[in-house]
Amino acid sequence: MPIVAIVGRPNVGKSTLFNRLVGRKLALVDDRPGVTRDRREGEVRLGHLRFRILDTAGLEEAEADSLAGRMRAQTEAAIAEADAVLFVIDARAGLLPADQPFAELVRRANKPVILLANKAEGGAGMAGAYEAFALGLGDPVPVSAEHGEGLGDLIDALEEVLPEPDDEDDEEGGEGKPLKVAIVGRPNAGKSTLINRMLGEERLLVGPEAGITRDSISLDWEWRGRRIKLHDTAGMRRRARVDDKLEKLAVSDGLRAVRFAEVVVVLLDATIPFEKQDLTIVDLVESEGRALVIGLNKWDLVADQPGLLKDLKEKAARLLPQVRGAAVVPLSGLAGEGIDRLMQAVVSTAEVWNRRVSTAKINQWLSEATQANPPPAVSGRRIKIRYATQVKSRPPHFALFGNQLDALPKSYTRYLVNSLREAFDLPGVPIRLSLRTSK
Ligand code: GDP
Repeated sequence: MPIVAIVGRPNVGKSTLFNRLVGRKLALVDDRPGVTRDRREGEVRLGHLRFRILDTAGLEEAEADSLAGRMRAQTEAAIAEADAVLFVIDARAGLLPADQPFAELVRRANKPVILLANKAEGGAGMAGAYEAFALGLGDPVPVSAEHGEGLGDLIDALEEVLPEPDDEDDEEGGEGKPLKVAIVGRPNAGKSTLINRMLGEERLLVGPEAGITRDSISLDWEWRGRRIKLHDTAGMRRRARVDDKLEKLAVSDGLRAVRFAEVVVVLLDATIPFEKQDLTIVDLVESEGRALVIGLNKWDLVADQPGLLKDLKEKAARLLPQVRGAAVVPLSGLAGEGIDRLMQAVVSTAEVWNRRVSTAKINQWLSEATQANPPPAVSGRRIKIRYATQVKSRPPHFALFGNQLDALPKSYTRYLVNSLREAFDLPGVPIRLSLRTSK
């Protein structure tokens, strides 16, 4: 597994980043007394990437007089071991003299570096991010470790520098590769019932015992000849019981499931739909860049089915603008009804998530969209968007190039995202938009 080191001066947010990447569960494990405080290590699953991460932040609590030397040594060691380095600066503070020695170590190591401008939540601290160009370590990637923003861009950047993952888990979404699906929802929404029903009904199971393979996190299944890896929700629960400390970390189970999946089915109990916890999961789906399908379970208990369906579809449109158009599928895990419709929605949403739009079409869209609704002027100068392209899929990620794009109001970028979604028929997936301003 590749190794990534987090490097930077004290206080730029290295620990927060470490915790964000590793997830609370492992961070807790590594924090046991007796585990060295000088360095923390953890395993990261980010998107479809997997790597080990090294953090030198524990050193900041060391004795001041020995600090500089030890920190330097630790940093050098971590860099030497790593396949890639995350060099972290504080985007709000800008570039400080204290950043320089660390930058120097990183530069000298001659390893792939990703420059992270941290604390840039909501676009804050862009000035600092631009200052950071001067380091000569490449384009800064703005992130907020604390708020979990920018992780998609971090994934993109890591993808470029980390060695190709070789196992079949890390596919590019080809037809023959299994589609990873997680069924996530509040306790008692009916996840286990549904999964059992899916596995029990399907005649084309693969693997040994009763035809089902079980590894630590997933169940191999087949639906209409299409290979599916289902996140083993029940397995998580069984393991969680073993260790009551982990029980408290149910939220991170949800996060794990979301990270595992390409398509997340948020399973609602149709009799008590869209509770706060459901919306939290949808937020995770959006921040982790997954595709979303909404399952309305226990439909057998609903008296006015057409009325409720209409109502819930409206609610979904209103409550979940970030994944507008997500399929809303009524079903009953208990009665085994609606599973085919659910899976059809899952497969077609996966297709949207993987879709690539040609640059020619995107630029045609751009000229139409900006003619219909031109970008505003900022301090007398009109913002110009010159060019657009899709830089990534899974989820669709577009980049716009032009001048003063950092001054585009949120309302305008929202307009562009909605317009992209409509023009290229991209329902149920988050859409990423990067703005690249030329000087
Ligand atoms: P989980 O916590 O999400 O895994 O939920 P379970 O699968 O354990 O189900 C919780 C309860 O809801 C159980 O009593 C199930 O029998 C019931 N249940 C699950 N699906 C349905 C459904 O489609 N219709 C009805 N009426 N009850 C269901």
